[in-house]
Amino acid sequence: MPKPQSRMAVPAFPQPKPRVAPVIAPSGPSLFEEVDKVKDDTLLKIREEIGDCTRCKLHKGRHKIVFGDGSPKAQLVFVGEGPGADEDAQGLPFVGRAGKLLTQMIEAMGLQRKDVYICNVVKCRPPENRTPEPDEVQTCSPYLLRQIDVINPKVIVCLGAVAAKTLLETNKGITQFRGQWLGWRGRKLMATYHPAYLLRNPPAKADVWKDLQKVMAELGLRLPKKKS
Ligand code: URA
Repeated sequence: MPKPQSRMAVPAFPQPKPRVAPVIAPSGPSLFEEVDKVKDDTLLKIREEIGDCTRCKLHKGRHKIVFGDGSPKAQLVFVGEGPGADEDAQGLPFVGRAGKLLTQMIEAMGLQRKDVYICNVVKCRPPENRTPEPDEVQTCSPYLLRQIDVINPKVIVCLGAVAAKTLLETNKGITQFRGQWLGWRGRKLMATYHPAYLLRNPPAKADVWKDLQKVMAELGLRLPKKKS
């Protein structure tokens, strides 16, 4: 079992070329351009800069900003869509029903939540758990990009279409690239289905497990031994 707060030993891998070309030419500058200008960044700086954010309309209904949780040195980052009611109440990502399933997925990989980092595209709960709107994603996602750059994981797993489309700056449907290794700012990225989708469609768990096994192979993780 990896030690908390320490990097898992993983083999180096060649930098992959993106296989999915971005298909949206973003109307403004790419999200990455601003983020590239930030120097000497830390998670604390990012959190302080977010402050008691009112930059987009999502602040109106939120109780707590959900910044992210887990190891700041994680080799594996999971990115979801946005907080739901439980997350909004607790200020922590993926702690509701979908979160319990994500925790099971992480544990099935032989890890614990504290070994990975979990965050979202938007940090405030969208009303009625609706999909975050483009202006909200545009406003909030630079902080996500900075978080990922600071943590510098080997692998990023996008949970669902919103995370995948945001990071890849693509309009393509997730089924077109789910389970494939893609390159993202010098790291490996894989999109898989969101745990909330799996709660509605349990048969899709088999696909997600296949994807997570690829992630495990990439990180040099083995399945935990079954208790006899
Ligand atoms: N769904 C998400 O995308 N993120 C959370 O934090 C919880 C549910």
